[in-house]
Amino acid sequence: MSEAALLARTDHQPAERRTFAIISHPDAGKTTLTEKLLYSAGAIHEAGEVRARGDRRRARSDWMAIEQQRGISVTSSVMTFEVGNILFNLLDTPGHQDFSEDTYRTLTAVDSAIMVIDAAKGIEAQTRKLFEVCRLRNIPIVTFINKVDREGQSPFNLLDEIAETLQLDVSPRNWPVGMGGLFHGIYDYAENKLLLADKSDGTVPGRVVQMTGMDDPLLDETLPADAVAHLREEGELARAAYPDFDLDAFLNGDLTPVFFGSALREFGVRQLLDGLSTFAPPPGPQPARNGPVAPSEARVSGFIFKVQANMDPNHRDRIAFMRVCSGALKRGMKLTNPRLGKAISIQNPITFFARDRELAELARPGDIVGIPNHGTLRVGDTLSERGDIAFTGLPDFAPEILRRVHLGDPMKSKQMRKGLSDLAEEGVIRIFKPALGSNWIVGVVGALQLDVLSTRMEAEYGLKLGFEPSPWEVARWVSADDDSELKRLLATHRSSMAEDGDGEPVLLMRNEWEMGRFAQDWPSIRFASIRERS
Ligand code: GDP
Repeated sequence: MSEAALLARTDHQPAERRTFAIISHPDAGKTTLTEKLLYSAGAIHEAGEVRARGDRRRARSDWMAIEQQRGISVTSSVMTFEVGNILFNLLDTPGHQDFSEDTYRTLTAVDSAIMVIDAAKGIEAQTRKLFEVCRLRNIPIVTFINKVDREGQSPFNLLDEIAETLQLDVSPRNWPVGMGGLFHGIYDYAENKLLLADKSDGTVPGRVVQMTGMDDPLLDETLPADAVAHLREEGELARAAYPDFDLDAFLNGDLTPVFFGSALREFGVRQLLDGLSTFAPPPGPQPARNGPVAPSEARVSGFIFKVQANMDPNHRDRIAFMRVCSGALKRGMKLTNPRLGKAISIQNPITFFARDRELAELARPGDIVGIPNHGTLRVGDTLSERGDIAFTGLPDFAPEILRRVHLGDPMKSKQMRKGLSDLAEEGVIRIFKPALGSNWIVGVVGALQLDVLSTRMEAEYGLKLGFEPSPWEVARWVSADDDSELKRLLATHRSSMAEDGDGEPVLLMRNEWEMGRFAQDWPSIRFASIRERS
């Protein structure tokens, strides 16, 4: 097919993009909301498909048994759906705290986030942590206070808690008419619509009644007198007490629009989606070494924020997830990876429509494509037509747990090294090769990663691993303006020096106290706990 014909066939894609993630504490309702967003957008036809798909996938893949056992989601995936002229790319983030590093990287690829809060629990630990990551990156946040169909805290308490603990202005977009057993529905401020709960059940969305405002006499005819009195009092108070929605403040990450709703009962989900369409930002410029790259830049560029193995158990390939940052990516294009200094041909890029995967003929800025490869692509890699772009901002975190690995069968140490290197490139673990001795050290941020490591090594490489304590607790990347100082450190403390998987120098230390002593003794050396990949 000629290029013009190909574009004519594929360029009917929606013009706008919203690339976002959902952040929440486990059990707040992220999975349910994801499902209802897809359902509301017509991308799936049966609520329950997202979970069912997850279960099928888990059943097929050995190492994902860990997820099943522990009831947590270790892997991230992408779901794309269309509403009107907007294409939504929803990036799923693992909920468990041990995987915050993975989540952090995923959040580098989004333009906005939905923060889901359980109306009974308010802000929880993991929500707060993820929020801080979004704040670091100035990612605008839309808030969904979920489960208003159950008894929860008062809406005022919830709003005040968000405002105080997160130092964020809150602007309610709707107001729940009662909660729990007294839940009657939701009043939408922007459109003056009352979304009624179905009377027979009290939970299923029923009629939508158009009002002229909260003083509309129709309200008195529609709801019981005490509910109306309550809504008028609270609703008006809330409008007066909290700031009006301000788009600039939202885009700066200073204000969050808040939707009350129930993912399970489908209340407020459509409003949330409309809110995302209206205020969430389209793809913006991405930071790169020689200045940000705008989505309007004609030539294609993107960065890899995640690498995943075993998505399809029939193939041992890996999928690298790339966020397209500029240009129109067409299948078959050649893109240069500056780390490798060579171009690779993007023959089979994949898009993730709702629950299916398809070959991507065309992808635009903000889109996520999966690139199958045999290990050539790593987290943090840039691919571009220009060849001279290097995106920045994807961090590596120093591990908090360092272990020696021992192998049941010492004859297989070569395979073990291969497996460890593969998984380190994927970003699952970090490896350190000490300057003295031949035993590699494995570093992870959370203990659960060690379980993932041993399960995958067994399933994919047929190796049974054990872990032993190492003498070290702290690892820091070391660098200096004066190269000779670094060499001197290496020569003086050879037994504490190692290289990471990319050959960067790392100092291993027994504890924080020793770390402090090193910092004192070596003022010209930088000891970094975060390394930015580029
Ligand atoms: P996740 O861990 O954040 O993905 O949470 P899930 O979506 O799995 O939801 C956790 C539990 O909360 C499940 O039992 C859901 O059925 C329930 N749940 C989710 N949304 C609502 C809601 O709006 N109302 C009620 N009553 N329960 C909900």
